[in-house]
Amino acid sequence: MSSSNKNIIKPNKAWCVDQAKEFYSIYEWGEGYFDVNNQGNVVATPGGDVKIDLVKVCQEVKRLGLSYPLLVRFPQILQARSKEIDTAFEYSAKKYFCSLTHIPCYPIKVNQQRTVVEHILSSQCESIGLEVGSKTELLVALGLIEEQTHVLVCNGYKDRAYIRLALYAQCMGINVFIVIESPSELSIIKQESERLDLIPNIGLRLKLNSVAEGNWQNSGGKDAKFGLDAKDILFCLDKLTKWNCQTWLKLIHFHMGSQISKLNEFAIGLREAMHVYNEIYKLGVKLKYIDVGGGLAIDYASQHDASYFSRAYTIQEYADVVVENIKTYCDLHGIPIPTVLTENGRAISAHHAMLITNVVRVREYEEINNDINAFQSDSDELVSLGRQLNQLVDDGVKDIRSHKVKFELMLNEKLFRGEVDLETKAWAEQVMRKCEAYVMLHNHDKQHMSLSSVENYYCNFSVFQSMPDVWGLSQIFPVMPLNRLEEEPLIRALLHDLTCDSDGKISRYAYNQTISDYLTLHELSFDDEYILGFFLLGAYQEVLGDMHNLFGDAHSINVTQDELGILQFSEIEIGDCVNELLASIHLEGSQIVQCCNERLQKSNTTNVTSEEILEEINDALYGYTYLDSIDRPPHRIKR
Ligand code: PLP
Repeated sequence: MSSSNKNIIKPNKAWCVDQAKEFYSIYEWGEGYFDVNNQGNVVATPGGDVKIDLVKVCQEVKRLGLSYPLLVRFPQILQARSKEIDTAFEYSAKKYFCSLTHIPCYPIKVNQQRTVVEHILSSQCESIGLEVGSKTELLVALGLIEEQTHVLVCNGYKDRAYIRLALYAQCMGINVFIVIESPSELSIIKQESERLDLIPNIGLRLKLNSVAEGNWQNSGGKDAKFGLDAKDILFCLDKLTKWNCQTWLKLIHFHMGSQISKLNEFAIGLREAMHVYNEIYKLGVKLKYIDVGGGLAIDYASQHDASYFSRAYTIQEYADVVVENIKTYCDLHGIPIPTVLTENGRAISAHHAMLITNVVRVREYEEINNDINAFQSDSDELVSLGRQLNQLVDDGVKDIRSHKVKFELMLNEKLFRGEVDLETKAWAEQVMRKCEAYVMLHNHDKQHMSLSSVENYYCNFSVFQSMPDVWGLSQIFPVMPLNRLEEEPLIRALLHDLTCDSDGKISRYAYNQTISDYLTLHELSFDDEYILGFFLLGAYQEVLGDMHNLFGDAHSINVTQDELGILQFSEIEIGDCVNELLASIHLEGSQIVQCCNERLQKSNTTNVTSEEILEEINDALYGYTYLDSIDRPPHRIKR
């Protein structure tokens, strides 16, 4: 643990919890769902007066026997977000004097966990539906939709079995829309619906020319992977007319991509889609629905701007753009206002889940020599320069930059020439660390601090499993300590995970109104656990997470709080054990045990029994894939 800074880093008396809130931008990215209490702990505020102290959650969850990393879900947030978006549409409809009906359809690809889908479906919206993109997702929807009024949008490329299942869903009374991605799907729909004597509801997915810039822009534009171009649309219309089945076509659909940060780009796409809607309408097809897809962004980076990880608009402004554009277009062309379906997944689910884990260690510094001035070495020139520098710091001299640079240069030169022994190098590193902490504290001059002054904090989790978009897209997620927020954080830290992969780290952080390549955290203490929260992980991260280094799913739990303030835990899912990860690579745990057993038979171990070793292997097979927070002693088998 780092302790060499202790002499000089003193907590700023003026620092208070309000500063911590501002520093970590909790109100910006938290959008009212997270706060900090007077004890300096982060609280979740999922709705009403409920304040869930996350430090208490950690304490109680530990009593249940769960260790870090832990994925915590707040189901109320899912319901609040669904309602918030729906209410924004209601408000817009009133504002623009139009009787527009809005149906939010949750795209389950964003997070298919049963508990997530169930809570969204039970939110207090007038009407709510699901969007699916594959046969398996369709089966998930069939297992979870309860009331028959729910809308089900079937997207994605379809084979006959998918189409048949969708039509069977309609037989069960669900309001199904089969959205055509490829013209070839049309004749299968016709054959299968005639067989079932059903009138299907068909939608056409449009390929728009408009593009919404961002990391997911390939969902839009003329080169998009999905959607029908004008020729395909005419082909479908022609077929439907020939079959005298024009009334089957009820909906047009578009999706411009996820995390659309500029609303004006979305508005251009919407107008392009409305134009196609009107063109089809003019050809005599009485369309009734427009599905505007997903894309409502999250302000992950708290920048309130059009950068890829933020958004330059509010939910209300988004709803206003949809409603106003549709109303204006319909009024202008004298066509009825369609029912609007939205497929916002990220905006509904991102806030509801966060990961909690502990920092397991920082790069450890052994305090070789407490008294920098007393250090003796053969490298006299370097040591005397270091002592001078140390003296300047102790004397509180404001500008030590030129001395520091000189010392650093000499150290490097001598190192490259092989003239510094290990003890002197360790001592010099201590001098540098002391200076850097001093500069940070007294000068607040970030420009003159090199990256070497950043501490490496190792955390008990896997970026690849819990935050895959950090690795794949350099996505920014809010990260902050869950406790000690009444103390000023003074250590510039870089967070690493447990994987043996240099990409297993977080390199970009958004806080203190900027994007930074380090996160300012507290110094670790030997006695207290330092816990970090990684927020807004509810969308895409669980489903995209992979098993790099065979780290598996983290434990997860739903957390609510009753009227008496008592924490309620439900849906406790124990994370993957080692055996499950091995099964995923088609290796049976029993094979490992057998193999070890055979090897033990041949070896002549004396100071440990074979049973003891095999017992340990068995325990490991059924253990958590992450670091054990309890230091379990080895199995002692009585001889
Ligand atoms: N609808 C479709 C067709 C999609 O492909 C996606 C995701 O890419 C979504 C909706 C959800 O988008 P978002 O999570 O940005 O709301």
